Amino acid sequence: MSRILIIAEHDGETLNASTAKCVSCAQAIGSDIDIAVLGDGIDEVAAQAATLDSVSKVIAVNAAHLAAPLAANWAPEALSLAADYSHVLGPSTTLGRDLMPRIAALAGVNQVSDIMEVSGPTAFKRPIYAGNAIVDVEAAEGAKVIATARIASWKAAGNSGGATVEQRAASSSAAGHTRYVGLESGGGERPDLQSASRVVSGGRAMGSEENFGLVYSLADKLGAGVGASRAAVDAGYCPNDMQVGQTGKIIAPDLYLAFGISGAIQHVTGIKDAGTIVAVNKDSEAPIFEISDIGLVGDLFKVMPELESLLG
Ligand SMILES: Cc1cc2nc3c(=O)[nH]c(=O)nc-3n(C[C@H](O)[C@H](O)[C@H](O)COP(=O)(O)OP(=O)(O)OC[C@H]3O[C@@H](n4cnc5c(N)ncnc54)[C@H](O)[C@@H]3O)c2cc1C
Repeated sequence: MSRILIIAEHDGETLNASTAKCVSCAQAIGSDIDIAVLGDGIDEVAAQAATLDSVSKVIAVNAAHLAAPLAANWAPEALSLAADYSHVLGPSTTLGRDLMPRIAALAGVNQVSDIMEVSGPTAFKRPIYAGNAIVDVEAAEGAKVIATARIASWKAAGNSGGATVEQRAASSSAAGHTRYVGLESGGGERPDLQSASRVVSGGRAMGSEENFGLVYSLADKLGAGVGASRAAVDAGYCPNDMQVGQTGKIIAPDLYLAFGISGAIQHVTGIKDAGTIVAVNKDSEAPIFEISDIGLVGDLFKVMPELESLLG
């Protein structure tokens, strides 16, 4: 029988929505689901995790060396908790992509990446070639399944659950070779790009870092996260953690607004699961219009200020 442990993603205060999406993936695998919350002073986060549907137990491990989400410190702790479980799941976010392969390496198994569909307890589907092909993967028989759930493929589980919270002492110690220096976050109060329900993105056509300010101010009006094409990132208009696409973030907001983005396959692969895609491009032949729900042929430097003033 499958026993599934999910490693929670959080910022020390709030549970990241990616954890609720992992729960949905876990529900497709089996019904015995626990969540591990690692950190320091994370009782509130553990309480939030305990509300997720289908979760039986939340294991909270408070320790100073687990305070920052350093994969080098979290992986040994997660592995020791994983002893009783057949599956260990994490999200396909920046954290999960750092953490889960380390847990898999310590456990001596291959990691299963980006589960988008569950075919059986050890059989999964995942996208390859920038989402242009889907491959069936099967974990080795009898091996622990250590996997990331592709968060763009799963809806967040509900939060009417009532799991128990169990406090456990840490069994690991701090990794000597890695230490936490600090967190620099460019986003300020803006929603996180990977979990935002609305995202405004700018492409090469923004033309400069200064002009990219139009994207920030429209996003702020909409309470949206900010994304960018690789061309905009490479040109230095915005930081590279905003890149959306094959080599950036794969996102699934309810609303995605793309300004001056052509719609290259590597960009589109990052937004395939978005709810409504709105594109503004001055070229009526731009490929982004093939995948957008609403398309406007126009100059973004005219459309963006107009849209912003209409929003009040
Ligand atoms: C291995 C690999 C990985 C990659 N990974 C990614 C990735 O993760 N994410 C990503 O985005 N790209 C990625 N790329 C790059 C990708 O192929 C494209 O080069 C890139 O997405 C283009 O960005 P863009 O649409 O902003 O620029 P362009 O393709 O130059 O498009 C600019 C668009 O703006 C329009 N435009 C110009 N002026 C205006 C105006 N005033 N108003 C309105 N519209 C205007 C133009 O008509 C055009 O359609 C990758 C490429 C490779 C080879």
